[in-house]
Amino acid sequence: MKLILLGPPGAGKGTQAKRLMDKFAIAQISTGDMLRAEVASGSAVGREAKAIMEAGKLVPDAIIIAMLAKRIAASDCAKGFILDGFPRTVAQAEALDAMLKERGLPLDHVIELAVDDAALIERIAGRFACAKCGAGYHETFQPPKVAGVCDACGGTEFTRRADDNRETVKTRLDAYHRQTAPILPHYARQGRLRQVDGMADIDEVTRQIEAILLGGGA
Ligand code: ADP
Ligand code: ADP
Ligand code: ZN
Repeated sequence: MKLILLGPPGAGKGTQAKRLMDKFAIAQISTGDMLRAEVASGSAVGREAKAIMEAGKLVPDAIIIAMLAKRIAASDCAKGFILDGFPRTVAQAEALDAMLKERGLPLDHVIELAVDDAALIERIAGRFACAKCGAGYHETFQPPKVAGVCDACGGTEFTRRADDNRETVKTRLDAYHRQTAPILPHYARQGRLRQVDGMADIDEVTRQIEAILLGGGA
């Protein structure tokens, strides 16, 4: 299964992708996570991307496309993958079409998580993750079952992203509306685009996505 989860920053792409990865045993590919790993390692890509990410702007297409091409060639992607945070521009969507065509791997679904901007700011401002295993949380909407302890691994250290602040969020939302939203008609024309109500609670969003993947309604 080859799937794209589309939606603005904070829409719930990562949260849903992790659930689908566990359920369907396919790879989750988050270009944001890959870029943060490059920044942490101090690589050439990381050095170029760091300031751009902190400003909430998009990293140049050439860097992203090269990174993605290498990633989908890895063996864990053979059974399928969920793209989370890619493509983010029309050029990236076109490059992905070409890559998949060359490999004879058509996309199965493109699912848009639709969420109001006001809710996104709230979600991003309260987002944090386990420092040990990366499990994602929200202060209000998805707190750990025991305060200060990761549900998944028992870790007690948590991190917040440098770009998850109210100022940067505005730039990121603006980049989404100007540069990413134009790819929605690209997939609508291909007849692959489906929308789910990303304002619903986390379990309900999962149910809506699974209904699409299993060939039902929603
Ligand atoms: P994205 O990967 O699209 O940027 P995340 O999956 O990281 O978004 O979700 C952003 C924040 O909102 C996280 O803190 C997450 O716990 C929370 N969240 C995700 N989905 C929902 C939802 N349906 N309702 C409320 N909060 C949510
Ligand atoms: P979110 O879902 O909260 O927007 P991501 O983790 O997907 O966050 O991305 C974080 C940052 O990494 C983006 O603001 C951008 O600077 C960069 N980035 C991630 N994916 C891409 C991409 N496909 N194209 C360009 N920049 C990207
Ligand atoms: Zn953990």
